[in-house]
Amino acid sequence: MTFKSIRGTKDILPSETPRWQYVESVVRTVFHRFNYKEIRTPVFEQTSLFARSIGELTDIVGKEMYTFTDRSDDSLTLKPEGTASVIRAFIQNNLGESQPLVKVYYLSPMFRQERPQAGRLRQFHQFGAEAIGSSFAETDAEVIAMAIEIYRQFSIVNCELKINSVGCEKCRPLYKKTLQTELRKIALQLSPDSQRRIEENPMRVLDSKNENDIRLTASMPLITDHLCEECSSHFEKVKSLLTSFHISYIVDGRLVRGLDYYTKTAFELTSNELGSQDALAGGGRYDLLTQELGGKPTPGIGFAAGIERLMMIIEKKKLLNDLDIHPTIFLAAADTTSRAWTLEKTIALRTQGIAAEADFLNRSLKAQMREADRQNAAFVLVVGAEELNKQTAVLKNLRVKEEREIPLAALAKILTE
Ligand code: AMP
Repeated sequence: MTFKSIRGTKDILPSETPRWQYVESVVRTVFHRFNYKEIRTPVFEQTSLFARSIGELTDIVGKEMYTFTDRSDDSLTLKPEGTASVIRAFIQNNLGESQPLVKVYYLSPMFRQERPQAGRLRQFHQFGAEAIGSSFAETDAEVIAMAIEIYRQFSIVNCELKINSVGCEKCRPLYKKTLQTELRKIALQLSPDSQRRIEENPMRVLDSKNENDIRLTASMPLITDHLCEECSSHFEKVKSLLTSFHISYIVDGRLVRGLDYYTKTAFELTSNELGSQDALAGGGRYDLLTQELGGKPTPGIGFAAGIERLMMIIEKKKLLNDLDIHPTIFLAAADTTSRAWTLEKTIALRTQGIAAEADFLNRSLKAQMREADRQNAAFVLVVGAEELNKQTAVLKNLRVKEEREIPLAALAKILTE
């Protein structure tokens, strides 16, 4: 019997990990520049945390979560997104006590049982950030600017930023009613999913990807025309701040996003370098979430981005192709005595901070030279009885095809230089 990875999951292989590590380090660097600090939350949580925050009627909670009962009969769920856990941790650890604005970021695997396709996995990875404690539009603009800055670091500058305001508890209920009334009139012509959503979450009908739904709902009232004074002026402020940051955007009154906790600002970054799954990142404001999860009322805003989707663009544009981990030196042995010496020396060099490799498979000298090449070592040193006797050997620089005789005792010093 052989085993295969679970459908929708992927091994990230040694040939790919240098790129992942590099991307992760750039992401961290940008977050640090914006003064966000890392938070690491567990990979699973109580199921009700997600049901409560993301919303019982959303696709994620309704049909995508990896939920299981553990041996104590507790219902647990692998996290499908990051915000709920971060807010749970914020409340549980009183993070808001010592500072009025908590800025945190995370990099983490996420789990959703979606239909796998290019750019859509069941275990995928996100980086994301949350700013908890500011109700001001300045923070919305900062978070959006930060997301865009991360992509700019990879020369991905042509992504599209869509923004919307989904209103608040004051204006949204009224708008929902108006929309519902209009949608009911055309209900029978809509897709089954949209028909169901008219009653459950009418705003999601406008977000439908179904061509016919899009056409039929083209002239429906939009939330942007039904915002209360507070939401409207907040939205205006966000837009003018983005403009002052030289960030271009498209107002999309149909953008709702699949999580129920959003209030006011919602945004999405898409790229035409991707196929049908073109969303790079999404986020928004969630001013009622902390309170909903049992904490003191605290406004917040954040975003999350798919790392696999960023990787797809990086691969497509052939960026970061030269990131490989390779030995600085390969110590090749010409005979049995010198083999023992090369192994000893290799370990010694490693403890001195030098990436060294030798032959651990008892291969011929010729095979060792091939291996040094294959490993892309910067230098190779061939040692035999004669070299050990004279305590000198020829150090070959494989990059510039140069060689020089060096005293064996000086090897570490020369390589460090
Ligand atoms: P969301 O948490 O749904 O707002 O998603 C934020 C971002 O995560 C999306 O824009 C995608 O880049 C990425 N993402 C979401 N779901 C998946 C998935 N199933 N597979 C890969 N990436 C995903």
